[in-house]
Amino acid sequence: MHRLLRKTWLLLGLAASLGTAASCSKDGDGVLLFSVEDDKALGDKVAASTDSTFRAKGQLVERSANPRAYDLLGQIVNRVLNSGQLQYRNEFPWDVKIIKDDQMQNAFATPGGHIYVYSGLIKFLDNESQLAGVLGHEIAHADRRHTSRLLQKEYGINVLLSLLLGENRGQVVQIASSLGQLSFSRDYEREADEYSVIYLNGTNHYPCDGAAGFFIKAEQQGQAAPPEFLSTHPNPGTRIQDIQTKADALNCRQRTASSDTFNQLKAAL
Ligand SMILES: [Zn+2]
Repeated sequence: MHRLLRKTWLLLGLAASLGTAASCSKDGDGVLLFSVEDDKALGDKVAASTDSTFRAKGQLVERSANPRAYDLLGQIVNRVLNSGQLQYRNEFPWDVKIIKDDQMQNAFATPGGHIYVYSGLIKFLDNESQLAGVLGHEIAHADRRHTSRLLQKEYGINVLLSLLLGENRGQVVQIASSLGQLSFSRDYEREADEYSVIYLNGTNHYPCDGAAGFFIKAEQQGQAAPPEFLSTHPNPGTRIQDIQTKADALNCRQRTASSDTFNQLKAAL
């Protein structure tokens, strides 16, 4: 009884101090209870578990196994990361890994900025701006801290307390890992699309509606074999329109960017 009471007080005290701290730190459109450090810690765990899953299946392409592909992909990713538009450019590691699966046209980023790109996405796309656009979208999910916002909304303070108190860490990571592969809400998808345009605009290089190019190509493929990306990123029609409207507002659609790096990357996979 005594121990239980003390624990209850500890929890209440923590909740109170967190509540106070949270009210001072606004992030995007929501007050976030998770700290940036929590994002990083969670991301490191999710990335470690993702790495071991794909390594066990022989699908994780090690840098030493294909340094050229990593170098080329890194050049494209870095243009987006160095657009001057990220909030956590220097806080998150932003490492990139290639997963060898030519049938999977997808990419994702964990919270805390670990990026994964399937070989199937690179082979599916036509040009470098499309890839930069999709990368921008995934980077936005991490930089806008969508997983933390979703966890907070779905699981509230209990998850946070578990994290902080070191209880059920495995469970939290499991929840977060599965969320990484599930659909975000329509609002988060819209925001990730919008920031893809903002990041690409900031590159002063890529036509900033690159992500729309992906959706247009995906639509052209028809219903017979929809790209995997669409199962986690639905509603291409309205999204193409929204991306192009945003791109027009920023006046950054009419750029031409070489796809040399992209074509070399494609050939290296
Ligand atoms: Zn998305």
